[in-house]
Amino acid sequence: MDVRDGFIGTIGNTPLIRLRRASEETGCEILGKAEFLNPGGSVKDRAAWAIVKDAEERGLLRPGGVIVEGTAGNTGIGLALVGGARGYRTVIVIPETQSQEKKDMLRLCGADLREVPAVPYKNPGNYVHVSARLAEELAASEPNGAIWANQFDNVANRRGHYETTGPEIWEQTEGKVDGFVCAVGTGGTLAGIGQALKERSSKVTIALSDPSGSALWHYYAHGSLKAEGTSITEGIGQGRITANLEDAPVDRAYSIPDSESLPVAFSLLEEEGLCLGGSSGVNVAGAIRLARELGPGHTIVTVLCDSGARYQSKMFNPAFLRDKGLPVPGWL
Ligand code: PMP
Repeated sequence: MDVRDGFIGTIGNTPLIRLRRASEETGCEILGKAEFLNPGGSVKDRAAWAIVKDAEERGLLRPGGVIVEGTAGNTGIGLALVGGARGYRTVIVIPETQSQEKKDMLRLCGADLREVPAVPYKNPGNYVHVSARLAEELAASEPNGAIWANQFDNVANRRGHYETTGPEIWEQTEGKVDGFVCAVGTGGTLAGIGQALKERSSKVTIALSDPSGSALWHYYAHGSLKAEGTSITEGIGQGRITANLEDAPVDRAYSIPDSESLPVAFSLLEEEGLCLGGSSGVNVAGAIRLARELGPGHTIVTVLCDSGARYQSKMFNPAFLRDKGLPVPGWL
């Protein structure tokens, strides 16, 4: 029988989808790894399971224990569902600016949700630091202990992609992949897949697709961290080199404004029936840029991170878009 084993057995082995318009426009094969089809609805199911599995293997997580994490939402959803499948409680700290849909989903998945003001990383009130302190407190007070998932600097995250997503892409393209491009939140996806592909062929070009407001494009293009502009995309953009991103094999970098990524995301829905979130728009826009640089005939893979259903109140809401001065597609 072809049966997968529960929630965890259903993570990964996602299909590669040919993106018609991007492929036609560039003369390349532009392929999206359909991570929105993971059982928790995003690429972060992989990181959530990789982190929990690592903590179990190292004896840090005991039955009935608590997983604490600071997250823009998707990692929290993944952790809450992995927790549900393995018998752990989850406490999730989230910046209050994240979409209502993700917060509702987190509560539905059983997470104990703590909303905090969105403040920069250097501020001790930043969601990442709040989650670290909370984990320390709960580790002392909870009868079965608690762990801090620490997705940004816990390299079990990128190892998960190195061991699963990267090899899947290599096998699905039969080694014909010429380029891989994606955005960075923690860096686990880019670094893990990048490393796995480079080990199989040093000729694969690895590129960063960075939203406005993130400091990484400047780092890879000019050698120093510097952020400019803003973006409505969630879950991506970074102001520092996380442990997951250290030594990532990044050959090229693109800075992608919302005015470039949103029309790509809208067209994927309108013309190809793919309802995806904003980070997928940034990723596909990056794939188009890389395709134009490499020229026709190349195979370029990117990641379709999560569903647009998680952002109906934002990027698919005409009033929200108008308020941000962004173009509203006629059909919306
Ligand atoms: N897209 C979305 C929607 C996300 O939630 C995330 C993770 N925060 C990413 C992309 C980036 O993935 P990573 O953390 O592996 O860099």
